[in-house]
Amino acid sequence: MAISKPQRVIVLGSTGSIGRTALEVVRDFSHAFTVVALSTHRNVEILARQAAEFRPEAVCVSHAPSAARFRGVLPGDLETLEGEEGPTRLVEHYDADVLVVATVGFAGLFPTLAGIDRGMRIALANKEVLVVAGEIVMERAHRRGVEIVPIDSEHNAIWQCLAGNDRRAVRRLILTASGGPLRGWPASRLETVTPAEALKHPTWRMGRKITIDCATMMNKGLEVIEACHLFGVAPERVEVVVHPQSTIHSMVEFVDGSILAQMGRTNMYLPILNALTSPERFENKFEPLDLAAVGRLDFARPDDENFPCLGYAYEAIRRGGTMPAALNAANEEAVAAFLGEKIPFTGIAETIRAAMDAHDAVEHPDLETLREADRQARAFARKHAGIAA
Ligand code: MG
Repeated sequence: MAISKPQRVIVLGSTGSIGRTALEVVRDFSHAFTVVALSTHRNVEILARQAAEFRPEAVCVSHAPSAARFRGVLPGDLETLEGEEGPTRLVEHYDADVLVVATVGFAGLFPTLAGIDRGMRIALANKEVLVVAGEIVMERAHRRGVEIVPIDSEHNAIWQCLAGNDRRAVRRLILTASGGPLRGWPASRLETVTPAEALKHPTWRMGRKITIDCATMMNKGLEVIEACHLFGVAPERVEVVVHPQSTIHSMVEFVDGSILAQMGRTNMYLPILNALTSPERFENKFEPLDLAAVGRLDFARPDDENFPCLGYAYEAIRRGGTMPAALNAANEEAVAAFLGEKIPFTGIAETIRAAMDAHDAVEHPDLETLREADRQARAFARKHAGIAA
C-alpha cells in the first residue's frame, strides 16, 4: 500500500449497488481515499447518510423533483447541484484523481467525457458509455493519456489477464456468462416469465435493469461491445461462453494457445477494489474463494435461439455507427416496459429487433448524432411497446 497521499474520488451513482460498494472500499481504506463529491439520481435518503459519513465537498441529485425533498436534510455549507447536468458540472468543478462512474444508461456519457478532459482516471461501471460512444470515449481518453479501468467484472478480469502481456499476442477475449435465471427454460415458458422470475439472478446480486439484461443475455451483448472498444479488438475476436458458476470472471487467449483466467468470488467488491487500486493490490477483507467448495467449472455455448439479444448486439457492433446506440436505447425502454408489466419477456427482444430494423445507422457519429439516435430509438421502442411517449 504505497499510495502516498489519499486519492481524491468522485462517485457518480453512489447510492446504487456499485456506488455503495465503491464507498465501502473507500471506508475500508480511508488512508488511501477521500471522497470529493457524490451523486444520485433520486435516492436522497441514502445520499444524505453517505454525505454525513464521507463529508464530501459537494453532492448532486440529478432528478430535480427529488432534489427538492433533499433541501434542509444536509448542512447548508454542502454544495448541492440539481438536475440532469449536475453530474457533469460536479466533474467540471471539483478536482479529483479518480472518477467512479457507477450511473446507469446513456446519461453517464457526459460526465465521463468531462472526467477524461480533466485527466481523471476513470473507473467505469456504466457500460452504456462505451456501448453508445466507445469510439469517441476511447479516442479522447487515448489523446488525453487517461486510463479507463473497467469495473464490470468480466472486463476487469480481462484487464487483469492482460496486465504485463503483449496485447498484440491476444487471439481472443472470452467473456463468461452465467446464463441468467432463465437458462434452459423452454421457449413456450419464456412468454409468461414474470419480472419477479427474471429478477432472480443465480450468482450475482445487482440492480434491476442489469439483472433483466442478464436474463435476456443482452447484458453479455452489451459487454461484447464494451470489450471491443475497451481493448481495441474486433467483434469476431470476442467470444461468449456460458459458465453457470460465474467463478471464472473472464479469460484471455493468446496466440500460443494459453488461456489466462481470472477467478474470484461473485462479489463486486473485488473488481471495484482492483479498479481503484491497480496496479497495486490491496488486501480483500472477504474470505478467499474456496475452490474445493466450488467443485467444478462448467462451460456451454449460449442459446442464441431462445435468447437472441446477444446476436443482436454482435450485429449492432459489426454494423457500427449509431446502431449500438439504437440497440441500447431500445433495450432500456423495453426492459422498463417489461418491468412495468407492459410487455412480455419475449417482447424485449422483439422490441429491440424492430427498433434496429427501423434505424438508419449513421457512420462516425458525433455526440449530437448519438443523442438523436438514442432519442429516436427510445421513441420507437416506447411506441412499439405500447407506451405513450
Ligand atoms: Mg458484467
